[in-house]
Amino acid sequence: MLTETLAFYPAAAKAIALHWPWFWPLWGGVMGAVLGSFLNCARYRVPRGISLRRPPSHCPACKTVLGVPDLVPVLSYLALRGRCRHCRAPIGRTSLWLEVALFTGGYLLTALFQAWLLA
Ligand SMILES: [Zn+2]
Repeated sequence: MLTETLAFYPAAAKAIALHWPWFWPLWGGVMGAVLGSFLNCARYRVPRGISLRRPPSHCPACKTVLGVPDLVPVLSYLALRGRCRHCRAPIGRTSLWLEVALFTGGYLLTALFQAWLLA
């Protein structure tokens, strides 16, 4: 049962890659952007000795805890025009560029891996 289930997934993944060649690279890009968002958090917190878990994501200026709409990598920054939704304090552009860079890296690596798998 488990072996059959595991054998099914590569075939399903390959079928998805053949029908929607953009799907896995986009998935890889989104995973890269999520990793970039986490690295932004770590880059701010680790040097200051703040835990990565607590307190939850918040604006450093007004201390308001951020909700899901404020935490979507790249899209939230663009929607909020680089400012906190609550106090309008600017959000550093490095956050955006790190997320965009890791989105691009994840997209390209996944596209290359997919091309190699399907060749
Ligand atoms: Zn704020």
